[in-house]
Order: sequence, then C-alpha cells, then structure tokens
Amino acid sequence: MTEGRPLPVSRGCREAPVLKERGQREVFCGLTGIVWLHRKMQDAFFLVVGSRTCAHLLQAAAGVMIFAEPRFGTAILEEKDLAGMADAHEELDREVARLLSRRPDIRRLFLVGSCPSEVIKLDLHRAAERLSRIHAPHVSVTNFSGSGIETTFTEGEDACLAAMVPDLPPGTGRELLLVGALPDVVEDQALRLLAELGIGPVRVLPARRADGAPGVGPETVYALTQPFLGATAAALDRRGARRIAAPFPFGEEGTTLWLRALADEFGVSDETFARVTDAPRARARKAVAAAAATLRGRSVFFLPDSQLEIPLARFLVRECGMEAVEVGSPYIHADLAGPDLGLLPAGPVISEGQDVDRQLDRVRAARPDLTVCGLGLANPLEAEGLTTKWAIELVFTPVHLYDQAGDLAQLFARPLRRRSLLRLEAAE
Ligand code: SF4
Repeated sequence: MTEGRPLPVSRGCREAPVLKERGQREVFCGLTGIVWLHRKMQDAFFLVVGSRTCAHLLQAAAGVMIFAEPRFGTAILEEKDLAGMADAHEELDREVARLLSRRPDIRRLFLVGSCPSEVIKLDLHRAAERLSRIHAPHVSVTNFSGSGIETTFTEGEDACLAAMVPDLPPGTGRELLLVGALPDVVEDQALRLLAELGIGPVRVLPARRADGAPGVGPETVYALTQPFLGATAAALDRRGARRIAAPFPFGEEGTTLWLRALADEFGVSDETFARVTDAPRARARKAVAAAAATLRGRSVFFLPDSQLEIPLARFLVRECGMEAVEVGSPYIHADLAGPDLGLLPAGPVISEGQDVDRQLDRVRAARPDLTVCGLGLANPLEAEGLTTKWAIELVFTPVHLYDQAGDLAQLFARPLRRRSLLRLEAAE
C-alpha cells in the first residue's frame, strides 16, 4: 500500500458533497470530556458550575467514583442563584476558597460552564481572572464551557485545551508539540517512537502537571492526535505555531502516515524511518488482520457523535475491508479532516451535523451490519435487530498508534461476533 508515502493521487471523499443536517441532536455534552481530562492532568481540578443534572451526568459517565480525593466536582447552582436572588460570584469565590484550602495539591483549576451557568449568563471568564489573581501564583484558574448548548462530548476537550493556549509561556525554539489528551500509555509510545526517529524536543499539550506546560511560539510545529481539536488548533495558530497536516494515527496506515509527516518535517531519512517503524508496523498489520476476518465485507454506518468518524471510517474501509454506507460527523473541519477524507474511497454519504430522525430512517433503510452511534441510540437500534457500537468507548479506550491498532479493530469486531453468537444460540 502506501509504505508511509506518498498519499494516493485519488482525492477519495475529499471533494464529495457533504449532506448538511441541522435538526435534533442526540449526543452527550462537553462535560463528558472531564472524565478523561482529569485523569490526564494530575494536579488539576475541574469545577463544574452547574445543576444537579450536570453532577449526575459526570458521575454516570465516570462510573462509580469511590476514590478519596476526586479531581472534579460540581458547584451546584440552586434556584435562588438561577433566579438572580443570590450573588453567584460571591458564592463561587467561597466554594473555590474552601476547595483550595482543603486541597493544596491543586495547581490548575478549571471553572467549567454548563447550560444553567450559560442561561443565567454567569461570566466565568471574569470569575477565572479574579480567582487567578486571588490564588496566584500557587493556582492558575481557567474557564471553558462544557454546556450542551455549545458543545458535543468531544468538544469539551477542545474547549479546555483552547482555553489553556493563551496562558502557555512563549516558545524557546523549534519544538514539536503533540496536542490531545492521550492515555499515558499511548503518549509514552508516541514519545518513544519519536525519540527513536530522532525527532525532538517534543512537548505535550495538555501536560501531565502544571509545571510542565509547554511553550509555544512561531518556531513551534504541532501535530494533533485527535480530529476534534479545531478550536485548539486555531488558538495555537494565533500564537504563531504551525500545524503539520496528516491523517490521524488510527490503525497501521494512519499511524505510519502521521509519523511520516512528522519525520518529513524533521528531515528523518527513509532508512531510519523504516528501521524504527518496520517491526511495529508488521505487528500492527497482523493484529488488524486477525480482527479483519470478522469485519471484511460488512457494512458500517456512522451516526455523528465524536468527530472521530472520518478517520475511523478510513481505517475500517482501507485496513479492515469494511464498506461504509454513511459517515456522519457532528462537525467537519475541512483542513483537519482533509487528509483522512482524501484516503477514504468514494462511495459513502458524508454528512455533517445531526437530524436524528432522518438519520435513523436512513439507518433503517440501509440495515448496515454495524452502526456506530451514541449511547442513547444504541439500545433502540439493538432492539430493532441492528448491531451497534458505542462511539463513546472509542474515546475512553486507548486506540491510537501501532500497538493499539489490533484493539481498535477488535472494538468493531466484538459486537458483530456477539450478534452472530446470539443468532447461533437462538437457532439452537
Ligand atoms: S451541561 Fe447541560 S447538557 Fe450537560 S449535563 Fe449540564 S444541563 Fe445537561
């Protein structure tokens, strides 16, 4: 296939017409991102300024949280706050002071906006500036919105990282910045591969600890690890940094092309590239092939949910032999999605945005072998005899780079195998 370069001449789905949907949405809000962001930033605390619904959502998304010192919580806006009878800013200041005196380990505090805080127009940016002044230099306070009015579930991470960019220190020279909250084990693999290629220095956003925050400036080049980081990319561009365009590192091919783009930027020779990547590529191909036996020739339909849909469709079609019927994404950032769209063979409907009833009608008409969708849609579709995969699992599970390529394919193969086992049992 591509052997890491160059990209195919065909433009695949890059110029395919995009079906724009603007109707009822059925996705989680951006608060969900706190579940993986709080694991990544070890001295941060996420204080959601919201309602009991927000607190319940977080607890449900995080599973049962029985750990002594959680790193996220909810400052509940009571009815008197919502009715404007109390000064929510004063109450917030008191809550924050209490939290920080109890938890001296917190170095970064995020005030996270929600639907209720937006509805009452609570100015969390002003609150963050004020609290930063009060608690400087020990704690820095930043705000971002995770509200369901403004964000779908992966946009919470984008909003969080974009809010951090203006406070990053100036860059100190030519550096590669990896952008996106990868699980530590995957981030370590990326850093190891880059070190073996001789690419460096490499910094990461978000850093695991506040004192490791990367610098950024005109000599910074950056690579996104997630396709939903459009606002973060724009914020980095405003600081003068330059993005390295590449497909996203999902599957053997995506990882190779992503690494190849970074290697080209840093002048790595073909020999070095082959020496470092040949063995993990071969392992990844073998692992993908094991799962592809179940996936080959089966059809897949992506409902818009995570913004991972386009690179994942590219992986499933090109590496696993699946046929994509429709690839829906909540938002398609043409520049970021372009390299993956260019690799996706023409054929599927590419849709942007959500109109859940119309999309479900198309799913029912196509009856794909596998539908990738949000949690709320999975159960009804399963009840209709369709096989589903929860998109949210793809964000919670380590799926990037070579060592996870087989696991990524298995995530899609498992529901298909489960469905055929159920059929076998029913037939017996
Ligand atoms: S932010 Fe909005 S959508 Fe999200 S849990 Fe709170 S009320 Fe619900």
